[in-house]
Amino acid sequence: GFSRRGVRGNFVPPIRSNGNNTGNVTSRNAGKGDDAMDDSIKRCMELLCGPDGELPEKLRNLEPRLIEHVSNEIMDRDPNVRWDDIAGLDHAKKCVTEMVIWPLLRPDIFKGCRSPGRGLLLFGPPGTGKTMIGKAIAGEAKATFFYISASSLTSKWIGEGEKLVRALFGVASCRQPAVIFVDEIDSLLSQRKSEGEHESSRRLKTQFLIEMEGFDSGSEQILLIGATNRPQELDEAARRRLTKRLYIPLPTSEARSWIIMNLLEKDGLFNLSKEDICAICKLTEGYSGSDMKNLVKDASMGPLREALKHGIEITKLKKEDMRPVNLQDFEKALQEVRPSVSLNELGTYEKWNEQFGSLS
Ligand code: ADP
Repeated sequence: GFSRRGVRGNFVPPIRSNGNNTGNVTSRNAGKGDDAMDDSIKRCMELLCGPDGELPEKLRNLEPRLIEHVSNEIMDRDPNVRWDDIAGLDHAKKCVTEMVIWPLLRPDIFKGCRSPGRGLLLFGPPGTGKTMIGKAIAGEAKATFFYISASSLTSKWIGEGEKLVRALFGVASCRQPAVIFVDEIDSLLSQRKSEGEHESSRRLKTQFLIEMEGFDSGSEQILLIGATNRPQELDEAARRRLTKRLYIPLPTSEARSWIIMNLLEKDGLFNLSKEDICAICKLTEGYSGSDMKNLVKDASMGPLREALKHGIEITKLKKEDMRPVNLQDFEKALQEVRPSVSLNELGTYEKWNEQFGSLS
């Protein structure tokens, strides 16, 4: 590959190091001034350099602007989700703790027969906490978290997805332990040969699988988490690499009640008895965690709307002018916020879970 020392051994600064940095500026960066972009690239390359001031081998022949994008947009330095923020899903939490958190914390114990799978699939309806689990894993395992939506690789990074994937895995390997979370992984690893499946999207898929193989066998501390609402679209090769597959179902009634209380308690004033909460939980059968959040948001608007109706101006409104959130607010909100997942979708997940899921 390229080296930061030129052919004659003279020092070449990192940004200009590999001659790949010409033209081809993405639209996202077009807004940033060239100088600002150069500065940002420089800063991030400096951060990735080892104590010897050299860029790690893996990053040397990657385009600096892609490395910058991975470091600044895909890498999340502070995922900021704890296990306790996630309602229910005890089974998933327990599995994940054993399968991925312990191995990340104690690689010395988890080798040989205990060596962990490097790929985890979280599947289930949208808005049920899959992304939260990914972030919590990174937090609990003190790992760097990378988040990318696979559909952005094919839509936003047309023709460059392959290079971005290499940059992603390259930066991750310099930031170990690392968790790479790939949302909508089905759009990358789907079995459907869409009519116009382009050469480029096939190459992207191949590149992705190659990168996964790369850290699968080695001693690298990288975990790949794929999330999908369409597990049935994954092909056999994808399933083989995502060895653990956990179903992340809709929240139970108990989890829904926890989500309501947790959100309401954060900002205070509500007037709901145990029975009220119970009634809301009965009425929210089939709601996802994210539906519940939207419901609470909408209900919390009730007291505000009412105060304004009584003629108080928003600029003069005092917090004391608002009554506590009550059951009627929730009943109204239930008319507005409907469940986003349909019952027959659930059947598909359950079937797939029986066939391919990690049940224990
Ligand atoms: P997805 O499964 O689509 O990745 P997310 O993890 O992004 O869903 O969840 C979206 C939002 O819904 C979260 O930010 C959170 O507010 C809420 N939510 C979903 N599931 C849960 C849960 N189990 N506990 C608490 N909040 C949840």
